[in-house]
Amino acid sequence: MSTTRSAIPIRDGTGPTLIERGQREVFCGLTGIIWLHRKMQDAFFLIIGSRTCAHLMQSAAGVMIFAEPRFATAIIGERDLAGLSDAHEELDRVADEVLNSRPHIRTLFLVGSCPSEVIKLDLQRAAERISARWQPRVKVLNYSGSGIETTFTQGEDTCLQALVPHLPLSGDQPAELLVVGTLADVVEDQFRQLLKDMGIAKVAFFPPRRSADLPAIGPGTRFILAQPFLSDTARSLQAMGMEWIAAPFPIGIEGTTGWLQAIARAHGVTDDTVDRLVAAPKARALKSLASHKAALEGKRIFFFPDSQLEVPLACFVHRELGMVLTEVGTPYLNRQLMARDLARLPDGVVLSEGQDVDRQLDRCQAAQPDLVVCGLGLANPLEAQGVATKWSIELVFSPIQGYEQAGDLAALFHRPIKRRQLLGQDQA
Ligand code: SF4
Repeated sequence: MSTTRSAIPIRDGTGPTLIERGQREVFCGLTGIIWLHRKMQDAFFLIIGSRTCAHLMQSAAGVMIFAEPRFATAIIGERDLAGLSDAHEELDRVADEVLNSRPHIRTLFLVGSCPSEVIKLDLQRAAERISARWQPRVKVLNYSGSGIETTFTQGEDTCLQALVPHLPLSGDQPAELLVVGTLADVVEDQFRQLLKDMGIAKVAFFPPRRSADLPAIGPGTRFILAQPFLSDTARSLQAMGMEWIAAPFPIGIEGTTGWLQAIARAHGVTDDTVDRLVAAPKARALKSLASHKAALEGKRIFFFPDSQLEVPLACFVHRELGMVLTEVGTPYLNRQLMARDLARLPDGVVLSEGQDVDRQLDRCQAAQPDLVVCGLGLANPLEAQGVATKWSIELVFSPIQGYEQAGDLAALFHRPIKRRQLLGQDQA
């Protein structure tokens, strides 16, 4: 958290961007564990942290139902340590306990956090040490989910970046396309089928469903992002010689079509082929949006910065549901990765990067939006003031990408407004 304030207007084709570096209300990167542990069924996430970290995971995970979580917190932060070697011994003991009791685990992630005792620990060395003991059954990797270094979805970026050097090179069957970013299995299956119909069969998704099955890549492998918060992972893949396919993000009809067209063009598939293949799912999506559009058209929406999904979501609600964008905040804006989505925002929209929460709350109040998309920390106070809110974390957990999910995504924006209207009628 920083207290320096600045507001530097930058032209990016959509209007000035307000850059703020004040106090922020954003989850740390530990939160990513919640969807990453569901995706990679043979991975375990051991947070090296404090009681605060354990509480955050419990409350963030509380918004979803899961059977047996594959994450835990080794409480190091509040211990009275005689020395760092004690902490390392403790870490080894907890890691062994986790791995001995879960024989199906193939990857153990040691996830760093903020407390100074944790920062002093060399987690990379610890990962190498534990890995050497558990070879070849378990690979032990480390990454940071610390709130000092990461916000919310950036935890996925640091996790995937830790996996990139372990992607097997070449192999007999390298993927021709790597789709990067955690997607719900159902979305993955739909995209895999569409890409297969386009003639692109050697498609791999990263992260994979099993961490032990990392996809093989080769010199001809291209990659496309399915999530916008993966700047460092993208950089690492490019450094390995992989070609990045620039595209909008696959949210809503327009984003999904643009995403598929970008893949098609990179692989020599014609636009006509894509148009023919997507005609039916596109028509279904359009139909599923109709009732939501009728209710949401003209409604004002304000995005607080949280997940980095804000820009593509803003494109969707504005262009496909007719909502009015009062402000689109994002914690971090990678203009290169986001270029196709930024270009789809309406002229003059207020775009903000970073946060100065008090100032932003003032702007939100002045804008009088019908719906605010924000983190859990801001949602309750705003609801108490009579403002309809949508938790941005829900938009990260839910399957929202692709044609078949467009209606469900619209419903996520529609529901809080409907609820607020019903409450208003009850009170009248
Ligand atoms: S990593 Fe840091 S910000 Fe996140 S819960 Fe732990 S102490 Fe808090």
